[in-house]
Amino acid sequence: MSDIHQVIIVGSGPAGYTAAIYAARAQLSPIIYEGSVTAGGALMNTTEVENFPGFPAGIMGPELMDSMRAQAEKFGAKLVTDDIVEMDLSGEIKILKDGSGNTLQAKSVILATGSAYKEIGLENEKRLSGRGVSWCATCDGFFYRQKTVAVVGGGDSAMEEANFLTRFADKVVVIHRRESLRASKIMADRAHANPKIEFVWNTEVIDVLGEQSMNALKLRNLLTGEESERAFDGLFVAIGHSPRSELLGGQVELDAEGYVKVDGRSTRTNLKGVFACGDLVDHTYRQAITAAGTGCEAALDAERFLAGH
Ligand code: NAP
Repeated sequence: MSDIHQVIIVGSGPAGYTAAIYAARAQLSPIIYEGSVTAGGALMNTTEVENFPGFPAGIMGPELMDSMRAQAEKFGAKLVTDDIVEMDLSGEIKILKDGSGNTLQAKSVILATGSAYKEIGLENEKRLSGRGVSWCATCDGFFYRQKTVAVVGGGDSAMEEANFLTRFADKVVVIHRRESLRASKIMADRAHANPKIEFVWNTEVIDVLGEQSMNALKLRNLLTGEESERAFDGLFVAIGHSPRSELLGGQVELDAEGYVKVDGRSTRTNLKGVFACGDLVDHTYRQAITAAGTGCEAALDAERFLAGH
């Protein structure tokens, strides 16, 4: 516990890695806690990223993250594949504990813990998780060769999952609670044009059925109230993400939905020397490129803060 570090970055993904690249190039010797199971963040579960500038042919999400990681390491960031499990951010010196029992001290902290998959909130969704219920088509799609699967959601994630699953499944049924998609036009058009994808509108999943593994969904039509059952081999939940801010409550100011509040266009939180970036802060844009942009801003804000002290 003797060293006092200049900056510790909590969380990886485009925000954390970009903050690490900038902080390392500013000679701040950053330590980045990448997370024990979530290293690389949400893009590790993504397929092709077509809209990250600089890659006209697209790039796979994990490859993009590996490159950012390597770039941070090249400039001297110390990467730790572990979680921060406890933080005291209130004092001038921040105290952090990691999952291996180490205690660290830092003059500044950059929070970049991103977001986690949202759940529908059904008891059987949890019980059958990993047994037919999944949040990651890239991870589990392979198991659904020639099967029929459902995807819940109407955003870009749901369209991406549905399109990807058609590589394996015979039929992919998108179940959405409204009659129009929230997804971007290009992703929606691609899904509409895919003959293996069927849309079921104005419908919510009210139960996941099955003993050892799921075999059907109980659905409710939101216009008529009519309930029905339909057989499925798998369910992919793609209804968005919630900020991973549980560790911060009571210290860093959060908004009603749990996102970290920052001061205007900056990454400054209500605590001096504590900065936040990426999906942890962002209700609106939540893109790899915007997360990377705010990661850069957080490192610059931290650098200026440290220079002033
Ligand atoms: P999102 O845009 O927030 O969409 C979530 C969808 O799930 C919405 O259609 C929503 O319905 C539905 N939903 C939310 N809670 C639900 C519930 N409890 N039960 C049933 N349905 C529910 O989230 P996202 O699709 O994960 O996208 C997040 C951000 O990442 C977006 O900015 C998106 O553009 C970006 N993204 C981009 C790409 C890409 O460009 N390749 C890929 C993935 C994500 P309502 O429409 O009724 O609200």
